[in-house]
Amino acid sequence: MEYEGIIYRPPSEAKSLILQVTVGCAHNTCTFCNMYRQKNFRIRPLPDILGDIRELEEGGYGPYIRRVFLADGDALAMGTEELLSVLREIRRVFPAAGRVSAYARADDVLRKTPEELLLLREAGLTLFYLGAESGDDGILEAIHKGVSSADLIAAAQRMRGAGIGSSVTLISGLGGQEKMEIHAKASAKLITAMRPEYAAFLTLRLYEGTPMYEDAASGRFRRITPDQIMDEMEIFLTHVDSPGTVFRSNHASNYLALAGTLNGDIPKMLAQVRRARDGHRYRRFRETGDLL
Ligand code: SF4
Repeated sequence: MEYEGIIYRPPSEAKSLILQVTVGCAHNTCTFCNMYRQKNFRIRPLPDILGDIRELEEGGYGPYIRRVFLADGDALAMGTEELLSVLREIRRVFPAAGRVSAYARADDVLRKTPEELLLLREAGLTLFYLGAESGDDGILEAIHKGVSSADLIAAAQRMRGAGIGSSVTLISGLGGQEKMEIHAKASAKLITAMRPEYAAFLTLRLYEGTPMYEDAASGRFRRITPDQIMDEMEIFLTHVDSPGTVFRSNHASNYLALAGTLNGDIPKMLAQVRRARDGHRYRRFRETGDLL
């Protein structure tokens, strides 16, 4: 089984089998993202994907796979019939796989009918990771996300209707100095409306070669400080209302690791945010290539 290029997966899929069904991201224009810039998007031929699964079957791995993650950036760009064929083969070869997940864009979700999503759920697709990034439409437009907050909410509703769970990612600092408060409040409003099973914050990193890196280098985009990121998180946690959503900000990029369930753990997490800000005690970014 061979992978094409660098493979990305959510932190919670660290123990999953990664099955590459597409190469790259069909959108590939978000101004902060460098994940798939080197890849020309294509959907892998179905026989190649099924061949990967059968190779694992022949290797005797079938009974041991518990989770499968469909890479790369947007597996839902695949036609429904092809995706169903992949899911059926996953179910046949990996009967213990209780979770099959993928990154998904809201527009890809909305291109599937409710009936198609239901078929995909019945065939075993259980969770989509939606990169919302922000709840503010001005920011979404500025970063060339290609979808609006209304699209994200509609996608979450359609997924819920089909029984597919959602894990929504937001990006701390994405509004910069000018829109910090707008970003925090609109993101809280978005999560309140989407009411996902999981919500998480990453922290903005700027990678050389991306439009956003150039904007920051030239002063067109002014990053917020770690203290302001705590302010932003405080505003978010004060405004969000999504009981039952499992909340995390424990990615390597985050200055402060938070984990709890909304709304019950909000007071505890707010206290952590305020303590960190008062003492200026933050984790450091662990990757290189960042401007800080
Ligand atoms: S949709 Fe996701 S993977 Fe594609 S460019 Fe935007 S952030 Fe990157």
